[in-house]
Amino acid sequence: MQVDLVVIGSGPGGYSAAFRAADLGLNVALVERDKSLGGVCLNVGCIPSKALLHAAKVVSEVREMEEHGLSFGEPRIDLKKLVGWKSKVVGQLTAGLGALAKQRQVSVVHGVATFASPNSLRVSSNEGDVEIEFKNAIVAVGSEPVALPGFPNDDDRLIDSTGALELSEIPGRMLVIGGGIIGLEMATVYMELGSAVTVVELLDQIMAGADRDLVKPLEKRMKKQLAAIYTGTKVTKIEAQADALVAHFEGKDAPQSAPYDKILVAVGRRPNGGQIGLENAGVNVDARGFIAVDDQQRTNVSHIFAIGDVVGQPMLAHKAVHEAKVAAEVIAGHKVAFNAKVIPSVAYTDPEVAWAGLTETEAKANNTPYEKSAFPWAANGRSLTLGRNEGITKLLFDPNDGRVIGAGIVGPNAGDLIAEAALAIEMGSDAEDIALTIHPHPTLSETVAMAAEAYAGTITDLYMPKKAKQ
Ligand code: NAD
Repeated sequence: MQVDLVVIGSGPGGYSAAFRAADLGLNVALVERDKSLGGVCLNVGCIPSKALLHAAKVVSEVREMEEHGLSFGEPRIDLKKLVGWKSKVVGQLTAGLGALAKQRQVSVVHGVATFASPNSLRVSSNEGDVEIEFKNAIVAVGSEPVALPGFPNDDDRLIDSTGALELSEIPGRMLVIGGGIIGLEMATVYMELGSAVTVVELLDQIMAGADRDLVKPLEKRMKKQLAAIYTGTKVTKIEAQADALVAHFEGKDAPQSAPYDKILVAVGRRPNGGQIGLENAGVNVDARGFIAVDDQQRTNVSHIFAIGDVVGQPMLAHKAVHEAKVAAEVIAGHKVAFNAKVIPSVAYTDPEVAWAGLTETEAKANNTPYEKSAFPWAANGRSLTLGRNEGITKLLFDPNDGRVIGAGIVGPNAGDLIAEAALAIEMGSDAEDIALTIHPHPTLSETVAMAAEAYAGTITDLYMPKKAKQ
């Protein structure tokens, strides 16, 4: 095969790059080692987890409505049907990608790619090898879960995020190692489906990337349903016994050891850059597997580009997609570069936690001056009609010019709401720009407007006499 562009990896980064390049007139091959397109995100990440999180949310909403006069009784969980629905959603999306590739005449090649030289690679599969000669390449090979050394990693009761999403059973006792995004999302699923879930986190705060005030409402709510959260705690050893995996802890609140039916390890992901023979193409890959790129996604070899998890944090699909478009457009001859001001982060827990741009934690660590305005959702009508009042919408402003430089939201649907804040930051908006934009009532989106009004001193839904007189 001879192509203008070969893209290795068909996750959100890879398929976006391939499709954009094809739309710009390039002859493109897309290589994927798995049977289905879509990468981790579509197959064993973002999408299946959100389907299961939706199920978890239904369970908790039903339980909580009991207090307000609506009861349905205990949920009866048909695991096979639930998993079938999740797989159907995934199948719909991955099949859709196949159709989109066909429409664009992108050649999909299934197999494991290894670079043979700076302009060729070999794709090996059960059906034989394919040689691809290319003018340009985009490496979009993603990342994989980190396994902890010294643990019984061959024991099928010790699982990673992929294993957790299989949902082969609802374990009685489950331990989640790692209180990051994956750990907390999966803990939410399993605790709502009925497992007694314990979360253990090495640092003294769960979800360390987010500001503490945003994590607090989540922690408070999760604590009601979880068996325990142990922060500042290490798992020193896991013993595989016939009837349980016994975890040994070192930390202030944890017991010395405890038995579990399943243990999920969610302590981060590592890049796959070291697995595809990039040395044969002269591309530098660091010891951890990351590939360094410039702001046009170019590696040290000028016709080979890299995007997504393999080029560094944050390992988020939406970052990969934007990098993908930059790389494809650069290859097509456009003068573009990746220069987004913010990449929003969202934990799809309940409540959701979302943030974009500067966080207070970062500002304090770097001595970045900022001013802040926070609107409590207890004063938002729509939030109360959802039976929820714990949310907060927080905006951070540059004291010099009043522009929004950061936003953090905790509450149901925070992940959707953060998009407005991201747009505000990209557009260089100040508080008035947001406050004078008419937000529909009654919605959670008003909390963004009201945080801006609170900063501008025009808010009437809270009583802030000092600000109002300004
Ligand atoms: P993470 O880095 O978000 O969290 C890992 C957590 O594990 C950290 O809090 C860390 O302190 C803790 N940890 C590390 N070693 C530990 C140990 N030995 N014992 C106990 N705790 C330990 O990683 P993740 O949750 O595995 O997610 C991996 C990647 O996938 C992240 O980059 C994340 O951005 C991405 N992801 C994003 C989403 C989303 O956007 N909603 C969802 C899932 C995953």
